[in-house]
Amino acid sequence: MTDTRVFHRSLRHTPSTAVRGDGVWLFDSNGRAYLDGSGGAAVSCLGHNHPEVRAAMHAQIDALAYAHTGFFTTEVAERLAERLVAEAPAGTSHAYFVSGGSEAIEAALKMARQYAVETGQPQRQYLVARRQSYHGNTLGALAVGGNAWRRAQFAPLLVDVTHVSPCYEYRDRHEGESVAQYVDRLGQELEDTFQRLGSDKVLAFVAEPVVGATLGAVPAVQGYFRRMREICDRHGVLLIADEVMCGMGRSGTRYAIEQEGITPDLITIAKGLGGGYQPIGAVMAQGHIVDAMARGSGFFQHGHTYLGHATACAAALAVQEIIARDDLLARVRRQGEGLMARLQARLGEHPNVGDLRGRGLFQGVELVADRATRAPFDPARQLHARVKRAAMARGLMCYPMGGTIDGRQGDHILLAPPFIISDDELDQLVDRLAGAIDDAL
Ligand code: PLP
Repeated sequence: MTDTRVFHRSLRHTPSTAVRGDGVWLFDSNGRAYLDGSGGAAVSCLGHNHPEVRAAMHAQIDALAYAHTGFFTTEVAERLAERLVAEAPAGTSHAYFVSGGSEAIEAALKMARQYAVETGQPQRQYLVARRQSYHGNTLGALAVGGNAWRRAQFAPLLVDVTHVSPCYEYRDRHEGESVAQYVDRLGQELEDTFQRLGSDKVLAFVAEPVVGATLGAVPAVQGYFRRMREICDRHGVLLIADEVMCGMGRSGTRYAIEQEGITPDLITIAKGLGGGYQPIGAVMAQGHIVDAMARGSGFFQHGHTYLGHATACAAALAVQEIIARDDLLARVRRQGEGLMARLQARLGEHPNVGDLRGRGLFQGVELVADRATRAPFDPARQLHARVKRAAMARGLMCYPMGGTIDGRQGDHILLAPPFIISDDELDQLVDRLAGAIDDAL
């Protein structure tokens, strides 16, 4: 058991104590420096200790830290929503604020359901999502997620959700199958699933535009989301894009789904919204969803104590203003190319690196026992956990994970450094990562 009173993620091991942050660096109580190569869990988009974000939070706290939304709105929440709506895909009309990613998913699922009820479709109740996905750890979000390991022991508590295949080209596109044929196959699976459930009974299809926490930055192939959107439209099913990890500029555009040329009905965001300065997330809702509720019951039957928290909104507003002012999306694209080029140069021919992929500063490394057969390592080796320990020993934070591949664990490493990372820091990131992989093997 750990010797502290904090209920840590591990009850066997107390993590180092973080005491200070500066840009892409975190420092522990022993004075060791860690390059934040994963932004924590794809959170710290501006790096640590940004003076302007701190100042914005201080100013808000000095005026008003919090006001309950059952009584008041605040200027800062209104300004943040206005900015987010203006930057969101066309047709987005409102931002519903929550405290994080799981809460955003819960709110989106309930919004979808209430929309169905208020538009005279109360029979719509089935959710369809994808295997090897992650949408959060609360019970609704966990039910929608398709990470077998995270779900296993809680399965009896989870609502029934139908899971279809992810779009995972490296593993699942058959040899000789074109991208278009692969999209056809996945489209047919979704179509068949809707038909089997009764297409007028399906409520929503939930997917991450770039899969994060189960597969390590796997984007869909060209045309996949366009096809999924067409099928959802044909059956009156809402499309919920979960951009909690891949959104807010992380993939090189404000929303990852912009690169697919479609508009979801609801988009969930969190992590990079507040950049780690405060816990905050949101559901970005299209006008038709909000209008239906406005015309119907006139309210959304949901709500948490901390929704629209003024200090959290102040932090998020400052983060998003800085991203726009400093043109950081262009920087994400540029440094993202630099990161991929370095990964290719250093790990592209590595015998145990099967795939390098991702978008912007959201990239993944898939480790394999055999490059030719793409066979994963024996899950008992817990290679991803060993890479994490080896990386920390080398002063690097990266986000390794074991996803399930055909019922087996695969080892992936997610990289999501702050948007402000320099060329020299990218060199250090990839050097340390390559060293850590070899240490762990
Ligand atoms: N959705 C996605 C795509 C995520 O990656 C995560 C967290 O990693 C969540 C939802 C849950 O977010 P949170 O941990 O803030 O509840």
